[in-house]
Amino acid sequence: MADSTARRPPSSREARGESSPPVLSIVVPCHDEEENVDVLVQRLEEALSPLELPWEVVFVDDGSRDGTLERLRRLTRSRPEVRYVALTRNFGHEAATTAGLEHAKGDAVVLMDADLQDPPEIIPDMVGLWRQGFHVVYARRTARDGENVLKRWTSRLFYRMMARITAFDLPADVGDFRLMSRSAVNAFLRMPERNRFVRGMVAWSGFRSAAVTFRRSSRHGGVTKYSWWRLTVLALDAMTSFSAAPLHLVSVAGLVVTGLSLLGAATVVFQKLFLGIPIPGYAFLVTGVFFLGGVQILMLGMIGEYVGRIFVDTQRRPIYFVAEQGAFGDHSEEVRGADTLPPDTASGNLGVS
Ligand code: UDP
Ligand code: MG
Repeated sequence: MADSTARRPPSSREARGESSPPVLSIVVPCHDEEENVDVLVQRLEEALSPLELPWEVVFVDDGSRDGTLERLRRLTRSRPEVRYVALTRNFGHEAATTAGLEHAKGDAVVLMDADLQDPPEIIPDMVGLWRQGFHVVYARRTARDGENVLKRWTSRLFYRMMARITAFDLPADVGDFRLMSRSAVNAFLRMPERNRFVRGMVAWSGFRSAAVTFRRSSRHGGVTKYSWWRLTVLALDAMTSFSAAPLHLVSVAGLVVTGLSLLGAATVVFQKLFLGIPIPGYAFLVTGVFFLGGVQILMLGMIGEYVGRIFVDTQRRPIYFVAEQGAFGDHSEEVRGADTLPPDTASGNLGVS
């Protein structure tokens, strides 16, 4: 696998020799998280200082409409560990995560949410497992405070279905909170797709993994950005990015329905010709029409899901744009283009590896 660490320019801080390059990067996508970012840095500092490792936190401001960006700017004035990347608009959690991974410099990168639902206190355990040679360390939740039965139940159903229709294991009860080694991060960044289901992509890459468990608490402040609608879209994305099983289902269902209708037609003809039973009137016809109509719409919808993915991927647009970046003693405003893919994938070998 190509190692992209070499192409990273040293930060101005490194260039001035102010501190050693970070070993551990914490990547935090933020959308409207003004109440949480300061507390998070505080908690990170408390949790990470016993490790005595150089660390950094890379906040990705994903088009927040509240004061998040201002808070991040203020944080970088006083804290050398804090950096931020502000995207030009809201690109979504998955794109923001990709931006963060791309800007992280550490040998190990921890992905976490800004709302303190992911406790920083378990990061030292993750680092321990990473040092034992695991490339991906998941944080598995044992309990979820503040999430209702329906959300828990649907999430379980989703993991069961994914396990059935994919060839790799998507670990259950695991969110995006995880540690990834430099190799796992580089592998992730080589995946060029636009619909990015981060958990699936990391699991698919197949690096040796382990898990630590934690209790997921309620948000520290603010509200969830994942409505039922967004969760449904995410689940559909996940299924169609990692499995063609829904397409197979379409063919099988098509076969079954065709078979049944043929059988139905044969029965009617048989009754009419050999038994002299009059064909029951319009009822049969109408149910048949509605049934077939419904099935066809469903099938078209499924095919549409894949066509949609192909459409989005053929546009080959960058996954995000950066409006502004900041670090301790170093602020720059810029609109950058396709720094979203490592050079080897950007040069046109998409999908061929
Ligand atoms: N987030 C983001 N962009 C979005 C939506 C969410 O960067 O468009 C961030 C959000 O700020 C948080 C994380 O993604 O740090 C997870 O979001 P949230 O807590 O709303 O999801 P939940 O924990 O409820 O699943
Ligand atoms: Mg949350």
